[in-house]
Amino acid sequence: MKKLVMIGNGMAGIRTIEEILKLAPEQFKITIFGKEPYPNYNRIKLSNILQGDTSFEEIIMNPLDWYQENHIQLYTGEAVTTIDVEAKHVISDQGRVVEFDELIIATGSKSFILPIPGADKHGVTGFRDIQDCEMMIKSSENDKKAVVIGGGLLGLEAARGLLNLGMQVDVVHLMPDLMERQLDSIASSMLKAELESQGMNFLMEKETVEILGDERVTGLRFKDGSEIEAGLVVMAIGIKSNVKIAKNSGIYVNRGIVVNDFMETSIPHIYAVGECAEHREIVYGLVAPLYEQGKVLAHKICGLPVDPYKGSVTGTQLKVAGIDLYSAGEIVEDSSTKAIKVQNEFDGVYKKILIRDQNIVGVVLYGDTKDSTKLFRMLTKKEDVSGMTSVSLLQSETGEGGSGDVASMPNDELVCGCNGVTKGEIVEAIHKQGLTTLDQVSHCTNAGRSCGRCKPLVSQILAHTLGDQFDAAAAAKTSICGCTTLSREEVVAEIKAKSLTTVKEVMNVLGWNNEEGCTKCRPAINYYLGMIYKDEYKDDRDSRLVNEKIHANIQKDGTYSVVPRMYGGVTTAADLKKIAEVADKYDVPLVKLTGGQRIALFGVKKEDLPNVWADLDMPSGYAYGKTLRTVKTCVGAQFCRYGTQDSMALGIALEKKFERLDTPHKVKMGVSACPRNCSEAGIKDIGFVGIDGGWEIYVGGNGGVDLRPADLLYTVKTEEEVMEITGAYLQYYRETANYLERTSKWLERKGLDHVKEVLANAETRKALNERMDETLKKYNDPWTEAIQNEEIKDQYYAKHTIKVGE
Ligand SMILES: Cc1cc2nc3c(=O)[nH]c(=O)nc-3n(C[C@H](O)[C@H](O)[C@H](O)COP(=O)(O)OP(=O)(O)OC[C@H]3O[C@@H](n4cnc5c(N)ncnc54)[C@H](O)[C@@H]3O)c2cc1C
Ligand code: SF4
Repeated sequence: MKKLVMIGNGMAGIRTIEEILKLAPEQFKITIFGKEPYPNYNRIKLSNILQGDTSFEEIIMNPLDWYQENHIQLYTGEAVTTIDVEAKHVISDQGRVVEFDELIIATGSKSFILPIPGADKHGVTGFRDIQDCEMMIKSSENDKKAVVIGGGLLGLEAARGLLNLGMQVDVVHLMPDLMERQLDSIASSMLKAELESQGMNFLMEKETVEILGDERVTGLRFKDGSEIEAGLVVMAIGIKSNVKIAKNSGIYVNRGIVVNDFMETSIPHIYAVGECAEHREIVYGLVAPLYEQGKVLAHKICGLPVDPYKGSVTGTQLKVAGIDLYSAGEIVEDSSTKAIKVQNEFDGVYKKILIRDQNIVGVVLYGDTKDSTKLFRMLTKKEDVSGMTSVSLLQSETGEGGSGDVASMPNDELVCGCNGVTKGEIVEAIHKQGLTTLDQVSHCTNAGRSCGRCKPLVSQILAHTLGDQFDAAAAAKTSICGCTTLSREEVVAEIKAKSLTTVKEVMNVLGWNNEEGCTKCRPAINYYLGMIYKDEYKDDRDSRLVNEKIHANIQKDGTYSVVPRMYGGVTTAADLKKIAEVADKYDVPLVKLTGGQRIALFGVKKEDLPNVWADLDMPSGYAYGKTLRTVKTCVGAQFCRYGTQDSMALGIALEKKFERLDTPHKVKMGVSACPRNCSEAGIKDIGFVGIDGGWEIYVGGNGGVDLRPADLLYTVKTEEEVMEITGAYLQYYRETANYLERTSKWLERKGLDHVKEVLANAETRKALNERMDETLKKYNDPWTEAIQNEEIKDQYYAKHTIKVGE
């Protein structure tokens, strides 16, 4: 097998690998290095994360198990620092040397940071990755004043996100018009007016010359001498290709890594794709052209014939709620162009088409973008428009829409701009593969898998193609994965109705289109079966995600972390001694206190896990599981002079009762003995705050990327009531949440009032608690099981079983 190494684990690179796996799944032994500590995620959706519309988990495009299933060795959180083009190997920042026969550089780009004094202060960031998002979200907790430098696409999306986070936002822009590279003055001023009405403040034609403050930013100074305050500064003025390692290794680099029409660099067997690549003097910054490049490169690297990549025309949209905007090609008329312009100030609609020599060369649409795909096709295909009128070019002006438009769309019309999917491809997939839902179409064709704006159109095509057989409700439903058309509710109902008892049986009887299922559906079915059959279901360990299968968290170098249970964050000298001895005996490289008040041993080899657990002789802390993780407690009334309740005792009792319980996603709790809330109970899935004469119970909090303060569910008097409400609440969550849905999202979906109403009924609470107690009976400590069972040891802890490094 030839050795293929890829540097960069981002959107363009992974799409290329997906194409390669489709063309020649057995041709390469693939190794991927990714500087970020995550599997491949949809970077486009970072704006949605910041705007609070989605969670990080929802934007992961290729989970860790995908790499494992495809036998890809992935090193995350590890950057390649050297490419030795002679020796044909790469060296990482951890000193790892990996040889290659073929090398793909897919390092993307980074935010361009203005080279001005103060740009390195705390509180100044770009907008490029998860870390930037986290930083902005954290910052919004303390700082209320944000400044975004750059009134382009990214800057405006960042500004909208910061407004959603409750910040006051100034957007500073050098030019007189927003998005001046995509919009003309009219569209730009309409956009500005709309964003102002949403709460953004604009400082136009301002050049920032200095970031003010000591260590942390306090404001900005402009060239005209004026200053403004800022606790957070987001620079969104452009991107810069990551080309350093290529340049240092002698590969020809200009603005990007220069490639030919087959994505080959100046050195044989080394290729570049994505935002790091420069093709015919253009570095693209949108995914559609990068995916086209990936397709060409995949064919080339597999030795298959392919047409050369000749460059792309791109179309731009803004992902801000309430704004419909599209632009492609040229935007400013000159003496060689003729323009068709329609402006309807009353409805806030503006359309402009630029025509040169009977061909459309530019499109700007604001307020109504229904014509965008058709006009984009005419532009890219250079269709002759001489016989057309302004009305026929801008059909949606006539008020028509819906399936009539779809019927008249030619088959080669582009529907999904990001993924280059045409109407013809979608129709063919619907016919050939019997697709009936939007989800399935997306899964099979990639349409709608990136920015998601084409989904309404894909739906219309589905409706038109299926005709009378189209069932709108069924089509809109979200199947649990691409292996089935069934939603979570349907799967659960079918399991109950047909008394299905194993993961395999569910997939067989319910007609899965993929015999083995996938990493999305198998863990979900396993969970639903366990939830339905309470104590009698035998867990299908092989259907679990990798960390739960091994009962330890895999680390980026392929070793594992071990976190024993410390109920309520309380420990003893004896346990501390054991941990210290184990750390010594197994040369554990890192011993660290966790945020959940316990001790983690990092860097344990997989084959050592059972022995480490045996020597520790402590229960698993389930730091890897979709279950109760920790119950963080404050010291409480026993020692703290403010404490009104025994928080430690309650925390320990809660943890002892609910440990090991399978839940749709991880669950964290916090118990504080007074409203000072030292255990941060207000950002836990369930939090308890001691007050005079009782406890407040908070639910739906989240302290991660999807930061959410918890809501007060009830105030109760006794610990017994706390236990009863918690049991009922958790069981209701277990029974009604989608697999991998955190309580915060679930609560928002269900509504606090609804949950309160359900739990207000004493009979319902009792029944929920009974089902909970039945479930809790079945759990054993998995570490003890592994120590005692030779078969488990052999099957799961043998050196050769894992191929993925996180
Ligand atoms: C907030 C935001 C919104 C966007 N919205 C849109 C949109 O609406 N439509 C659209 O088409 N595009 C959009 N984009 C652009 C789109 O996300 C990018 O074009 C695309 O992600 C580029 O893919 P890539 O693989 O070239 O780079 P990336 O996705 O950046 O991946 C490159 C990866 O390589 C890693 N890397 C770099 N150097 C090394 C090294 N030495 N060793 C190992 N790893 C390394 C990086 O850490 C990164 O993870 C948006 C981007 C952002 C940031
Ligand atoms: S939450 Fe209150 S009782 Fe608990 S440690 Fe903090 S101040 Fe003390």
